[in-house]
Amino acid sequence: MTERLYYTDSYCTHFSARVIEQLTWEGRPAVVLDRTAFYPTSGGQPADQGMLGGLDVLDVIVREEDDAIVHVLSGDDPLDFPKPDGSEIEGVLDWPRRFDHMQQHTGQHILSAAFEQLLDADTVGFHLGAEASTVDIDVPQLDPAAVEPVEKLANHVIWENRQVSVCFVGQDKAATLPLRRPPAVEGLVRIVEIADFDVNPCGGTHVARTGEIGLIKIVRLDHRGDETRVEFLCGDRAWRDYRDRSAMTNRLSVRLTVGYWELDRAVERLQEDAKQLRQDLRRVRKRLLEADAAELVETAVTRGPYRVVCRVLEQSSSFSEELPGELRRLAQALTQHPGTVALLTGVDERTHLCFACAEGLDLDAASLLREACARLGGKGGGRSHLAQGSAPPTAPAHIKVVLSDLASNIESNDKG
Ligand SMILES: [Zn+2]
Repeated sequence: MTERLYYTDSYCTHFSARVIEQLTWEGRPAVVLDRTAFYPTSGGQPADQGMLGGLDVLDVIVREEDDAIVHVLSGDDPLDFPKPDGSEIEGVLDWPRRFDHMQQHTGQHILSAAFEQLLDADTVGFHLGAEASTVDIDVPQLDPAAVEPVEKLANHVIWENRQVSVCFVGQDKAATLPLRRPPAVEGLVRIVEIADFDVNPCGGTHVARTGEIGLIKIVRLDHRGDETRVEFLCGDRAWRDYRDRSAMTNRLSVRLTVGYWELDRAVERLQEDAKQLRQDLRRVRKRLLEADAAELVETAVTRGPYRVVCRVLEQSSSFSEELPGELRRLAQALTQHPGTVALLTGVDERTHLCFACAEGLDLDAASLLREACARLGGKGGGRSHLAQGSAPPTAPAHIKVVLSDLASNIESNDKG
């Protein structure tokens, strides 16, 4: 059984230990030591990293069969760790990573205790993530106003710089303590106590005094069924979050020339303006389309009862609209004019076609379109009054020939 140095001293960053077993763990060299300061992934807290015998410690795992702590090392070959059993090696922890975990984990105890004390809400889950940490609180709905006093109390406990102490007690003794949660282990129970505030069984690594956490900030509430997931940041993570958000609001304030406290109102105004502009744009587009249509109708060729308009747009003319949409709207505007047949095409990275007939004409736009598509190697369909399709990009001169052939045949195709 490995002696867990972190149980009694979470500030131990350098240690020496003897190799008692060497093994391969998922293709990597791994060792079990007689003692270790490396915390293994457990209880919601990720493993420590660092160096062991000159190799990087990639992962630290509790082996289920015997509770041994397995240090998984860098290197592809198990022989990369050529120390014989019994030899002494040095271990060095990645201290910034460990200290960050200590800040987040002790912060979690304080936050969970504050939720319990102020809202009578229990913590049913904890996850210390690479970016943010979460506690799951057994309350279906928590609004930010209710959570603010919890956050405030947690920060006061931090600033009071209370002592955090660790001890081991038997089950009988544990039963007499005011534990926030019952112990989940058999035998000796490790107790983490925040002076006059919280007593909780826990195997994790903690700061010695709450002041080391610096700051705790709840950044997100996520309602999931009967629980609420509370995302929070402590210490350096909270400071970086504040730094980034402060820089972001400052940039936005400069761009919108308002104080940061007026940003939401300024964005609201921008949204209202944008909405108004979209409405105006729709109106202007409609008028422009009607004007374009009226102009095009003048170019119509008369074939019996039909006035045929052929057109090849080489790019969208108005407001960078997508070509198929523009062709359809133009066709619809054209066919408002009685007797009009619109054979419209446009070319961007494809050749787009939109054929339409004014109401009351006995002509099938869909079959005209299929005919054009057959000649241009494309496909499409629709109904007798409006049909759309597309084909590979085609030279406008060639499209014009196809359209003019179709227009000449319209009279002879006239079913009426
Ligand atoms: Zn804990």
